[in-house]
This record gives sequence, C-alpha cells and structure tokens, in this order.
Amino acid sequence: MTVPPFTYVRPKSLAETVRHLSTGNARIHAGGTDLLGCLHDGVFSAEKVVSISRLDELQGVKQMSNGSLTIGALASVSDVANHPLLRERYPALVQAAREVASPQLRNQGTIGGNLCQKPRCWYYRGDFHCTRKGGSRCFAEAGENQYHCILGGAGCFIVHPSDMAPALVAYEAQIIIAGAKGTKPVPVQKFFVLPEQDITRETILEPGEIVTAVLLPRPPQGLRSSYRKVRARGSWDFALAGVALALRFSEGKVAGARVVLSGAAPVPWRSTEAEDAITGRQLDEETIARAAAAAMKAALPLEHNEYKIDLFKGLLAEELAAHAQT
Ligand SMILES: Cc1cc2nc3c(=O)[nH]c(=O)nc-3n(C[C@H](O)[C@H](O)[C@H](O)COP(=O)(O)OP(=O)(O)OC[C@H]3O[C@@H](n4cnc5c(N)ncnc54)[C@H](O)[C@@H]3O)c2cc1C
Repeated sequence: MTVPPFTYVRPKSLAETVRHLSTGNARIHAGGTDLLGCLHDGVFSAEKVVSISRLDELQGVKQMSNGSLTIGALASVSDVANHPLLRERYPALVQAAREVASPQLRNQGTIGGNLCQKPRCWYYRGDFHCTRKGGSRCFAEAGENQYHCILGGAGCFIVHPSDMAPALVAYEAQIIIAGAKGTKPVPVQKFFVLPEQDITRETILEPGEIVTAVLLPRPPQGLRSSYRKVRARGSWDFALAGVALALRFSEGKVAGARVVLSGAAPVPWRSTEAEDAITGRQLDEETIARAAAAAMKAALPLEHNEYKIDLFKGLLAEELAAHAQT
C-alpha cells in the first residue's frame, strides 16, 4: 500500500513538540519500528509525523535524590536491558526488555514507543474495518483467535503487546505525560484502556500529549521480582503468555504481591485474585496451585485459545515455585 503524503517535523524542544502534536492528525515518531509499519499498512494515517529524536531531555536513565529512577521515553529497549542500575534493582524489567523482539529492534525501539505501540491482532493490522477501527464487528471473536485474549475482552479481543508494561505495573511505576497544560504522572496501570472503557484506544493519551519518561519507585528492601514469557517460536515473538511478579516476604510468608499477566488481556492484567491467594501465606504447593487456579477463574476463552488457561496456570505455578526456593 502507498503511504499517503505527510509533513515531517523534528522539533528541538518539548514545548514545540506539544504544539505540533496539538494540530492536525499528528503522530509521534520515536524509533519508528511500529509507526512506519502502521502507516504503511493503513492501520492509521497521519497528516504530520513529529520526530522526537532531537529531544535530548527524553534520553537516558537518571537517579533521583529519593532513590527512584526515571527512564527517558527515548531510552532504547537495549538501554533498558543493559543498564547496570536497572539490572541490580529491577530484574523483571530487564528480563522483559531482553525478551522484546530481536536485537536490531531492541536497539532501534524505545521504551516510550514500546508502551504506545499498536496491538498485533491480525484483523486490526489487516484490511478489516473492525470495532477498534470504528467498525461494528470484531472479526477475531468468531475467527482465528488462537492468540487473542481470555480476560478483559468485550467487543474486541486484542492482547496488549508490550513485554515491559507488565513489569512496570508490578513495580508500581508511573508514566510521565506532557501536554499543553504541563506534565502529569499516571500509574502505569491507569495508562492503558480496556475495550469496555473505549474500544478505539489503547491508552489515555489525548491529542497533543506525549510520554516523556517512566518513573520507577525505589523497590522495597528484599523485593523479589521476575518476568517470564512463553512464545510460539524460539526466535522473536510476542507473548502467548507471560507473568511479571514482584513479591515481598516477611518471616517466610508473602507480605505483599503484584502478579501481572501479559498475553492474557487487552491491557497488562493485574491478577488480584492470585495476589490475594498468596498474601499472608508460605508459597507451598497447595497455595501455589490455589493462586494459579484463582488467576484463571474469570477467564472466558474463545474457540481457539482455551489452551491459554492451562498455559497460564503452569507458568504462574512455576514462577511462584521458583521464588519459593530462593
Ligand atoms: C517484528 C517485531 C517484533 C516485536 N516483538 C515485540 C515483543 O516481543 N515484545 C514487545 O514488547 N514488543 C515487540 N515489538 C514492538 C517493539 O518493541 C516496538 O515496535 C518498539 O518498542 C516501538 O518503539 P519505537 O521507538 O520504534 O516506536 P515508534 O514506532 O516510533 O512508535 C510506536 C507508537 O508509539 C507512539 N509513540 C512513540 N513514542 C511515543 C511517546 N514518547 N509518547 C507517546 N507516543 C509515542 C508512536 O506515535 C506510535 O504510534 C515488536 C515489533 C516488531 C516490529
């Protein structure tokens, strides 16, 4: 497909960027690994493409005086995967970054783009006027739905594509958004939108708004965290199922837990059912089995993706058991 013409601007300041984003049908260009495919395939169009590559303030990882860290929206996925402080303090995020796509895509793709990328449903990406594009029908619901969601679907059954987002939810990170009215922090979990809230959007970003950074609070002493992903192929692929865990222990029992699933729902899916099943308990076999079952209790599989229920139960049980032994 021929991409319809658009203007291309490379502003030098955040204020100028926000001004550009506030007019016309403007799209942000970070690494371009998702944007260019979307424009080429007609997933959406743009009258103006706004490159943010000159915004030096969106680069790098910085430590704040209170021990929290900010990751600039232009930090590459490889930067996140290799940063020494992130490796020391946020292993789940680093593991997730290492699971993203291929080395080339990790070098080119940014964390901001990873969080704002479009879903991978083949109907949405293909030539189908589906509900997410403003149409009246979800073609996956009665179609080829083996990779679609089992939780949180309603009129649209995409899965959220980012591996890093579930890890960020587990760490209770915040996303910093800049717009014409200034900047605001938003908990990562509240950044993403379920189909039942608005079927045509994936994030709360309004026209004229941009993600400038991710803010990671200092993890509590002794926090154990991890991200594990299962995919259909050994080489690069999106998550069939994934789980981010952030667990705090006291006297051998779980004192606080965050259990976040990827590949399960249209947003990174926090399983409060699994969290409740393990909090205040030792991670013994019975507790783990109960948590795995609880995480899938509300699952509503489609015709071809019931296998995901057992996959998630097994994955979660294995990951919890691994933390029980450390
Ligand atoms: C073949 C392939 C395999 C992949 N596999 C995985 C995978 O396994 N796991 C995974 O997590 N990801 C995967 N991805 C997605 C990849 O990680 C993203 O394409 C990449 O991180 C996007 O970053 P970018 O900088 O290139 O974004 P761009 O392509 O520049 O932008 C992506 C989208 O985000 C918007 N955007 C970009 N930056 C900002 C910002 N700062 N604020 C607001 N909006 C913004 C753009 O307008 C655009 O809509 C894969 C991608 C490809 C092409």
